[in-house]
Amino acid sequence: MPFEPLLQYPDHLALEDEVLAWWDDEAVFDQLRERNSGRPTFSFMDGPITANNPMGAHHCWGRTLKDVFQRYKALRGFDQRYQNGFDCQGLWVEVGVERSLGLNSKREIEEYGLAEFNERCKERVAEYAEVITGQSRRLGMWMDWDNDYYTFSDTNIEYIWRFLKECHARGWLYKGHRSVEWCPRCGTSLSQHELINSYEELTHPSLYVRFPIKGREGESLVVWTTTPWTLPANVAAAVKPDAEYGLTEEGDWWAVERNSDATFVRRARGEELVGLEYEGPFDSLPAQEGVVHRVIPWDDVTLSEGTGIVHIAPGCGKEDFELSRVHDLPVLMPINEAGIFYDSYGEFEGRSTEDVEKPVVVELERRGRLVEAGSIIHRYPVCWRCTTPLVFRIADDWLISADEIRQPMLDANATVKWTPDFYSKRMDDWLRNMDDWNISRRRYFGLPLPFYPCNSCGRLTVIGSVAELRERATGGLDQLKELHRPWIDEVPIACECGAEARRVQEVGDAWLDAGIVPFSTLGWQNPEWIEHGYATGAAAGLTGADLPDHAYWEKWYPADWVSEMREQIRLWFYSQSFMSVTLTGLSPYKSVLTYEKLLDEHAREMHRSWGNSIDAAEALQNIGADVIRFMFCEQVPSQNLKFGYGPADEIKRRLLTLWNSVKFFVDYANIEGFEPGGEAPSELQPLDHWLLERTEQLVAEMTEAYERCWTPALIRSFESFVDDLSNWYIRRSRRRFWAGDEVALWTLWHALVRSVQTIAPVMPFLADFLWRRLRADDAPESVFLAPWPEVRQTDDRLLAEVAEVRRVVELGRQARGDAGLKLRQPLRRLVVQGAGPAQGHAGEIAEELRVKEVEFGPVEATELRVKPNLPVLGPKLGKELGAVRAALQAGEFEQLEGGGVRVNGREFTADEVLVERGAREGWALAEDDTLTVAVTTELDDELRLEGRVLDLIHQLNTMRKDAGLALTDRIRVTLPQADADLLAHEEWIKEEVLATEIRTDGDAEPQITKA
Ligand SMILES: [Zn+2]
Ligand SMILES: [Zn+2]
Repeated sequence: MPFEPLLQYPDHLALEDEVLAWWDDEAVFDQLRERNSGRPTFSFMDGPITANNPMGAHHCWGRTLKDVFQRYKALRGFDQRYQNGFDCQGLWVEVGVERSLGLNSKREIEEYGLAEFNERCKERVAEYAEVITGQSRRLGMWMDWDNDYYTFSDTNIEYIWRFLKECHARGWLYKGHRSVEWCPRCGTSLSQHELINSYEELTHPSLYVRFPIKGREGESLVVWTTTPWTLPANVAAAVKPDAEYGLTEEGDWWAVERNSDATFVRRARGEELVGLEYEGPFDSLPAQEGVVHRVIPWDDVTLSEGTGIVHIAPGCGKEDFELSRVHDLPVLMPINEAGIFYDSYGEFEGRSTEDVEKPVVVELERRGRLVEAGSIIHRYPVCWRCTTPLVFRIADDWLISADEIRQPMLDANATVKWTPDFYSKRMDDWLRNMDDWNISRRRYFGLPLPFYPCNSCGRLTVIGSVAELRERATGGLDQLKELHRPWIDEVPIACECGAEARRVQEVGDAWLDAGIVPFSTLGWQNPEWIEHGYATGAAAGLTGADLPDHAYWEKWYPADWVSEMREQIRLWFYSQSFMSVTLTGLSPYKSVLTYEKLLDEHAREMHRSWGNSIDAAEALQNIGADVIRFMFCEQVPSQNLKFGYGPADEIKRRLLTLWNSVKFFVDYANIEGFEPGGEAPSELQPLDHWLLERTEQLVAEMTEAYERCWTPALIRSFESFVDDLSNWYIRRSRRRFWAGDEVALWTLWHALVRSVQTIAPVMPFLADFLWRRLRADDAPESVFLAPWPEVRQTDDRLLAEVAEVRRVVELGRQARGDAGLKLRQPLRRLVVQGAGPAQGHAGEIAEELRVKEVEFGPVEATELRVKPNLPVLGPKLGKELGAVRAALQAGEFEQLEGGGVRVNGREFTADEVLVERGAREGWALAEDDTLTVAVTTELDDELRLEGRVLDLIHQLNTMRKDAGLALTDRIRVTLPQADADLLAHEEWIKEEVLATEIRTDGDAEPQITKA
């Protein structure tokens, strides 16, 4: 047998294991890389995956897209790098290690020891890099797995140092004294790009508090706050100068607009209150000593919530801090890095912001300062890593100014082709609004910022390389095993003034690590290629990656293509663009494919705690890689994807059409001893011609979809082709296959091979599995080693003609279905209106739709039904409605131009009536934009008998299949006496079920035996 037979149904999991093992054994990927080596390049830059956990299902989305397009480009013969990247340092890894060690604060990390903690972080990265590699391979991702880049390599760090030195040289680097969002658990500030999307619905206290006005007995300002912990740091109250305020009978000042029920005994404009002094809520605290509380003007006071008087604590809020600069207010910062009150805060000392809520309320209540206490549910920012609610602190952070780079980055983005294209605008929006880049984190396992401020002369030295560090070091080099804390902290340098300068303690934002990779991995400005030169520091031993030379960088930079999820606009797309535009003035990528979020199949976010999360391991184990990949490719990337077992089963079901078609071919080819290969036979029939053209069309459509990175079109084209192949070509050619027609076999074989080739990047396992069964002896062993089929000119007239025939048939089926007439019941007449070239296919249409006559011409089997549009006409007509309705029902109306009607002498517009076209009695009807198809629904005895014959044929063929008979086996049939009238069609039945004889002396049910 030339073809290995297929199982009834595909076992996706088993065949994927088989193909994976075969790829390994035959080193298929290596062969492919070798074949393409030295050819034109396709440069893809992998955005690093964080090596901190196993992969989630959402990671499979990006990894699928990356692999699909790398495979496609490889099929087209492009040379590629295939370097995978791991993100290795920063808060992700630190928090992961803290959890596994049971540490819960920075103090505990320091007690544990930085050197040990650093080792645990590296172990964690190594562990999960291995897990992710295994899962990615199982997904079918072809990468150069032993030569990954790890962002914690010394080489990567050195490249960031160079970038930072350049920023310093341009005067962009500065230390900011600002109010920042702060995670008390992680003990660090967060930057703008870490805040977006990190909001949760939280319940907080809602307090209305009195601040008694000095020198005005019985009068108080009323402020509203949801952060009681900030009250001990209050220094001012802000009013809107042009708003109207009123004093209530109780002696409370409010904005009039915010307390409309109150009776005001006096009114004043905000500006009249400015300058008043008041008693602060906690004046007896040592921290409040000497503070004069006063009313300040602020145009931004909102009148949409609160009291119109805002409590100001410059140490606890961004705007508050800004106001302190304008009005020269004292800045009281009540909490330390861990969110704990300092000792100058009396009874609150040593407590957290949450712990002081109650004592604050109790104390205000006791002193009669509380107007009202309740609670509020609002969206509040939380730490994206540990979900602790954020607070504001004043911190000294290192920042890179965005002013000068903003426009060049916008210019660079204008050169990038985004898919879907509107994301280009999203990137622009981000760039227009980006703040200065806060690059410092007060943490441990991260990029050590190479900043050496001198206490003696005040100069800031930024070290740009290890060589420079060695040259300037005044000690500690012996113990410097890698560029990480604690070792790097033990290497002071000599300032130009001669004094010794020590490194600042901060580490860098992890997006610096990922942003530099277009330079560090490609050997920018590196004079000589260094083998394993990237595998330095913490990365040594984990990878064999080289540090290439500058010529290599020139060859591969910028990337032709990158692909990550949309949130990377404010993360990796941003950080690498920032760094690249700074260093080269160019965008680091020419085109981007980005995509949205992965949800569960009911469109809910996936959360482990909700029990609806599916990780990559589970998905791969239960669904299989091809189906997962198919699902991701089908998804329109600008929409959230609903991922789950339900949608996966649906895809498996759809994929059966391809499987069944291949199985059909293999079964008949084996009967006939068909040998695959060679050129198209010369004696093609019209349907063969069509399938060959249709196959060329598939190749053209798939090529075009890959070229524009639009995966939903891949799936649409592929499925539409398989449908044509199965439900038109095979269906219409069955008899030829039964007769062993070699021309039909060749044509079908060719179409199947092309469909497998063009879908191979999407479903590499199934494609290679089928390829290996279908391929001709002289074809490459793997579909990935075969060249991409050439795109040829197609016969569009022929394609349009058959497409129209298929539409007529589809509409005919729809009409029959709507009338409840199953397809095995022959009907008398079919009328098609609006057909063009399909008119030459009356015979095929009649056969497909089981009708005796097909007619082309106007369909008169319709009637117009007009009803009043009640919501419009009801009120207009009132009592008259009944008469109009009756006339419409009776068909006593006249159609007007523009869709209106005339009834009972009145005219109604198209909006006032509902017009439907329906089938007349005895007809069923279906239509699309251009075609109308009508069939007669009436049955006579002849039609009924034929319907029963077709039912019987179907039943007998099912029985043949269930009995496991070979396609060529002959049978004997015994029918019940009641079916004797069917023998009027004896020859027909015999032919359709391969029967040698039919008897009619049986029991209630038909029976078959092998002849
Ligand atoms: Zn945190
Ligand atoms: Zn100095």
